[in-house]
Amino acid sequence: SGLPRFNNHPVVDFTLEAERNAFPKSIAKVRAAAGGRVPLFINGQEVVTDDTLDSYNPADPTEIIGTVCQAGTDEVARAVEAASEAYLAWRDVTPEERAEALLKASRYLQDNIHDLCALQVLEVGKQWDQAHADVGEAIDFLEYYAREMIRLGSPRRMGHAPGEMSHLFYQGKGVAAVIAPWNFPLAISVGMVSAAIVSGCPVVYKPAGPSSCVGGKLVDMWKAAGLPDGVFNFCPGRGSVMGDHLVDHPSVSVIAFTGSMEVGLRIQERAAVVQPGQQQCKRVIAEMGGKNATIIDDDADLDEAVLGVLYAAFGFQGQKCSACSRVIVLDSIYDRFVERLTEAAQSVKLGPAEDPANYMGPVVDKAAQENVLRYVGIAEKEGRVLVKRKAPSEFTSKGGCYVPLTIVENITKDDRLAQEEVFGPVLSVMRAKDMDEALDIANSTRFALTGAIYSRSPKHLERAYREFRVGNLYLNKPSVGALVERHAFGGFKMSGVGSKSGGPDYLLQFLDPRLVCENT
Ligand code: GLU
Repeated sequence: SGLPRFNNHPVVDFTLEAERNAFPKSIAKVRAAAGGRVPLFINGQEVVTDDTLDSYNPADPTEIIGTVCQAGTDEVARAVEAASEAYLAWRDVTPEERAEALLKASRYLQDNIHDLCALQVLEVGKQWDQAHADVGEAIDFLEYYAREMIRLGSPRRMGHAPGEMSHLFYQGKGVAAVIAPWNFPLAISVGMVSAAIVSGCPVVYKPAGPSSCVGGKLVDMWKAAGLPDGVFNFCPGRGSVMGDHLVDHPSVSVIAFTGSMEVGLRIQERAAVVQPGQQQCKRVIAEMGGKNATIIDDDADLDEAVLGVLYAAFGFQGQKCSACSRVIVLDSIYDRFVERLTEAAQSVKLGPAEDPANYMGPVVDKAAQENVLRYVGIAEKEGRVLVKRKAPSEFTSKGGCYVPLTIVENITKDDRLAQEEVFGPVLSVMRAKDMDEALDIANSTRFALTGAIYSRSPKHLERAYREFRVGNLYLNKPSVGALVERHAFGGFKMSGVGSKSGGPDYLLQFLDPRLVCENT
């Protein structure tokens, strides 16, 4: 294809003064421009609605980041119709040309990276380095899927029988509905949307409510890429008002979703029902929850393990489906590990993500805050709370969505804290007498997304490789922070259906394979 081979976007380097200075500058700039109206974008036109929803800064809910227009069922119908009308022409654009649009979009993100980071810091409370990683991952998805489509784009000769010429090739399935989460507000949105678009599937994109302003940046990105009208439609809205309508629409062929297990299962159920006029079976790709474990072996390097668990459990306030929410510690090292983990958790600073000195900030909104506080109550009943650290009152007094950083021990396999995804900074500590029991506990939930083990024993690492059954397993590193291609991401069991994002099978889900055999 003539493109240089794929490489991940570099991590931010704060030893460079220019990087350090760029963040506060962009935060001030984005803040000064915040609060405006965010319209829908349908068939190349801005669309304004009467119904709006304010997206606010979780550190200070009085700061409105944007007033976001909300699609109702009419707007969803218009958006799906625009996408359907764009479908045939976009499907038949060459794979190289579709890939080119993604590369232009990538250029737009690279050129605006600091402003895009700043918007996440303010809208969802993401720490600087993690906001940068999120934008970097969005760039990676664009660069990787562009190359993947070029790879899949040439017809493949099948077999070698004399007297026939057989070719296998792919075409885009049809209109894709993309329903995105707020926790990786740019990366996961751009990943799902660009996979659909490069495959030849026009998109109706619904961002999550708390990250709708970040979602709105996709409009600017695709405008910069020069997509034809109708190929990308931006449809923020209340799930309770328009979610089912989008999923049920007879002209939708693919639904790409990332979010909770409850919503994912509902989508799968509804998508299975054939609606009047529907011409194709709907495919659902759903990335759902996790209850991810990290095993601490008795010979683990504790310097690494303590920092790794702390980051995997409390980075971005634990709001990652990959977050470590159970740490399973072997008996003989239990006291030493738990003491050090507790000390480390006591020493980190809590406060707004805007100040890079703070390790942990507020959760994304008031609903998330309520949910996490409920689980902190359950932790107090089910186990013994070791750490319950609140943010300083100078921050909580502003009404920010803070919850305590919580570590609880004496949690056993059947406790709710061992089985239910909290999606917040609540870590359960579990004791295992040996590696057999540790692996048994690790595998004892209905989820299978990520996992990690810290060990110096090659035999135990090899056992984990075989027996710790999750989608993404990390040996001697944290369970979060998957990189496109190198750590193609996704799980199984109740953690989701579909193949790994950022991996070599992902685009196939948006494509119908065709075979043409000519008698020669
Ligand atoms: N890919 C992310 C990671 O590896 C997690 C994605 C999610 O939380 O949905 O940390």
